[in-house]
Amino acid sequence: MKLFQSVKRLLTVPNDNPELALAQFKAFSKQVPLLYFILLTNMLSLAGTHQQSAPFWLVKVVPAVFAVIFIVRGIGWIRESRKTVDAAYAYRRLISTNLLVPPIAIMSVAWSVALIPYGNDYQRAHVAFFMSITVIGVIFCLMHLRSAALMVTFLVILPFAIVMGLSGEPTLIATAVNMFLVSLAMIAILMRHYSDFTKLNEQRLTLLAQQAALHDKNREMQLLSDENLRLANLDSLTQIANRRSFFSNLTSAFERARAENRRLAIGVVDLDGFKPVNDLYGHSAGDKVLIEVADRLSTFGRAGCSIFRLGGDEFALLIDMDGKAAMDEKALVELGQRICASLSLPIMIGNSVVHVTGSMGIAVYPDVGLNGQDLYERADYALYSAKRENRASVVVFNARQAKALFRQRQVEEVLFAADLSREITLAYQPIVDARSGRTVGFEALARWTSPVLGPVSPAEFIPIAEQHGRINLITRLLLTRALKDAASWRGEPYLSFNLSPHDLAVEENVLRIISAVSSSDIAPERINFEITETAIMHDFEQAAHSIELLRALGCQMSLDDFGTGYSSLNHVHKLPLSKIKIDRSFVDRIDERPASYKIVKSVLTLCSEMGLTAIAEGVEREEEVRVLKQLGVNAMQGYYFSTPLVQDLAAARLEREQADAGAAMALVTGE
Ligand code: C2E
Ligand code: MG
Ligand code: MG
Repeated sequence: MKLFQSVKRLLTVPNDNPELALAQFKAFSKQVPLLYFILLTNMLSLAGTHQQSAPFWLVKVVPAVFAVIFIVRGIGWIRESRKTVDAAYAYRRLISTNLLVPPIAIMSVAWSVALIPYGNDYQRAHVAFFMSITVIGVIFCLMHLRSAALMVTFLVILPFAIVMGLSGEPTLIATAVNMFLVSLAMIAILMRHYSDFTKLNEQRLTLLAQQAALHDKNREMQLLSDENLRLANLDSLTQIANRRSFFSNLTSAFERARAENRRLAIGVVDLDGFKPVNDLYGHSAGDKVLIEVADRLSTFGRAGCSIFRLGGDEFALLIDMDGKAAMDEKALVELGQRICASLSLPIMIGNSVVHVTGSMGIAVYPDVGLNGQDLYERADYALYSAKRENRASVVVFNARQAKALFRQRQVEEVLFAADLSREITLAYQPIVDARSGRTVGFEALARWTSPVLGPVSPAEFIPIAEQHGRINLITRLLLTRALKDAASWRGEPYLSFNLSPHDLAVEENVLRIISAVSSSDIAPERINFEITETAIMHDFEQAAHSIELLRALGCQMSLDDFGTGYSSLNHVHKLPLSKIKIDRSFVDRIDERPASYKIVKSVLTLCSEMGLTAIAEGVEREEEVRVLKQLGVNAMQGYYFSTPLVQDLAAARLEREQADAGAAMALVTGE
């Protein structure tokens, strides 16, 4: 039973290994045409030597039929060897070959045996040679199809041995024995070769499997790294492209614009009034606003226009103006206006409605921009102009801004190299009591006269110094000087000193201010610090803490330029302020402007309710003085009373007032 199983296994094509069948088919299909070639030439040669002696049908008809079969099959296999086939097909072809081989072998043997009676000794020897050489050739060619090779061997060798043994011819018997032994050796070689082939194929398959696994791993790694790259370029809150993505896209977009002569626009959007939302409603509300803004902006994204979040409440757009939907500058501005309009629509946060607006700066290449970064800086400058001059609007970087930017760069450069302690001085503008008209305080105002640029307004250089971290130095320098000057003032008016947001943002800076005040010869109660609404909005918690520290020292605190920023009454309530300075835009022609009149009136009501001193800034005309007095303002400041004065003139003003007061007193008392 076991023997039968083994023989069966040897004589059939294994069907449990499709890969092996495929490999067998590939190797085998190249050899089968050669097999038919060997059979054909051997047969024709044997038929040739028997032409004269054997019958017509045996040397002409049968070889002709065989020749046709061999040629057709041979050509068929040449075609097969070029085909890409699957394992199932390969298996089928191997089976059919296995089935076809025995009849061909039997017929060939029968044919050659049939020739024996017609031949002489030489011709019989040729028959022996035919069988031997054919069997060796066939075994070689069928190396990869073990079953077929074994069947051919037995089907040829057995009749060959019998026929030759029966011939009684010693030479033929020796040839048969020899052939039998050689065949045994050939079979041994065939078996080893087949087993090597099987193993080699298995190794090849293992290698292929390893390669496939490696390939899969590589693919997995690639997917992972693609995902990482995607996440690295995505803003986690709003799910739109982030700052990093913006700058890498900007560089490539700029290079493309330059190379292909296309126009490229950068839009930078910044929200106005976002900080108060964060402060009043909390950070999660702030996050919702940012997500909503990103969603609204995304509706403007399309082919050639991509949206990014640069960080905080700043967003950016990259617009290919010569892309699919080409646009001119007018269309670009209209797009910007539509964007600003969409941002100003109310946003629902839970049950509350919040309002923010967006300002936008645009720069267009090739009008401006030497590289991507340069173009971005110009868009950012245009945004800065929009925020300063016309919030919730679009500003395209133009010649006026180019000039202003040039000037800003110039001031930056000179400021960096300046000897600040020598070049920056102070002027003191009197703050007068509304009723008595006497100077109750002086506001210290920085004055910079650069040897290169001449006088530069603080409105110009203070923001630059803030941007470049030089403001703390300026504050320290000027505060020490102002404290020294104020200590010598007669009548002890207070010193009002402007602080920048940066002075309040870091506790270390506040401690330095406290130390300067403490080591001066002037009582903290005589010092008033002015802070703007922007300083509070910058970081409300920190600003409130800093204000408390200064108040605890005894200093007073004014909210400067009230009404121009975003602070709400809510903020004013929360802070321990002592004064409010009404911005000069509300004072300007208050006698002619009912709106300003109403605003100032309500601010004054607020001040009196909260026990705050109200100071009107920028008073220039008598009519303004009259209205402000009538409304009940506590103190006033402006060119009407005095421009900012150098220390000597400020001191002289105080002397004069003292003298006048002395004279008045003498008049009253009659001394
Ligand atoms: P501010 O604190 O609101 O100062 C008042 C500004 O109004 C001053 O401008 C002053 O010269 C000007 N002014 C006063 N009266 C009138 C008037 O009747 N009409 C008009 N049109 N203007 C008047 P200045 O000196 O150019 O200062 C501009 C701003 O620069 C200041 O506004 C303040 O925010 C800032 N600043 C000035 N000095 C310093 C400083 O030492 N430190 C800080 N951080 N900021 C300063
Ligand atoms: Mg001020
Ligand atoms: Mg002011």
